[in-house]
Amino acid sequence: MLDRILGGLFGVAIGDAMGATTEFMSQKEIEKEHGIVDDIIGGGCWDVLPGETTDDTAMTIAVAKGIITNRNNPIDDMGKEFLKWKNTDPKDIGITIRVVFDRFNGNWFEAAKSAHDYLDGKSAGNGSLMRCLPIALAYPKLDKIEELTIAHSKMTHYDDLASEACVIYNRIAYRVLNNEDLKSSILDEIKNTRYEKNAASKPDCPPDGFVVNSMKWVLYWLLNSDTFEEVIIGATNMGGDSDTIAAIAGGLKGLEVGYEKLPNHFKDKLLDKAKLNELAHQLHEIREQETLNT
Ligand SMILES: [Mg+2]
Repeated sequence: MLDRILGGLFGVAIGDAMGATTEFMSQKEIEKEHGIVDDIIGGGCWDVLPGETTDDTAMTIAVAKGIITNRNNPIDDMGKEFLKWKNTDPKDIGITIRVVFDRFNGNWFEAAKSAHDYLDGKSAGNGSLMRCLPIALAYPKLDKIEELTIAHSKMTHYDDLASEACVIYNRIAYRVLNNEDLKSSILDEIKNTRYEKNAASKPDCPPDGFVVNSMKWVLYWLLNSDTFEEVIIGATNMGGDSDTIAAIAGGLKGLEVGYEKLPNHFKDKLLDKAKLNELAHQLHEIREQETLNT
């Protein structure tokens, strides 16, 4: 279990670090500038160091820390961690979350609704999907996972499309943590959802930050790749919101593969590896306590 939890967190961070190189680029621009990106090399629009991660990993860490601080009722503490991150003045806060921060006045859910209205109803970004995995890592029971996954998404993303994608994602994570096969878990969980049709075919939408489009690309890479490398290299070289799509897909693939089998040259490059390691151990401990209590 610890190996899977470590694999999930490192999978998110590795996808983020590799994909950061190509974020907002088109496939053609990537080909012209890099040929193919198949390693963690840094650069890109945020000019990251090789192994530096972006908002995707930072907010995943914030969710994990909120759970670690108060596992019975972590929402407020997740919010405190979001604000701590915001106060570090990060260069890459996504649009929905930026507007929510601007409107936050003590109540996340009100701020999310206000941001939704301000954005003309367009609050279905992928910014909650990219950070939701720690909930599935920490809690062994599906009803608790679903309740917290929805609430945590609604803190910033009012649109049900965002929380719907988070729930499907964490339900898949739940199965993989219980040693089910990743591809069959995906196919079971997308049954009778908007993601069922042609899930394994190349999506006819851009790999952008709209949560439905991001999720379609994530499922596409996961259903059509066998190795962790294939998943994140595929997502990285499509460009668009590549760091986030690689992070989301990398999280589930990392869970399946486990930390020990993730490529060393990726794990070693991550600047945050000590922090991620510590958090994974703490989440694992919470999971053990929660298992004893149920
Ligand atoms: Mg990012």
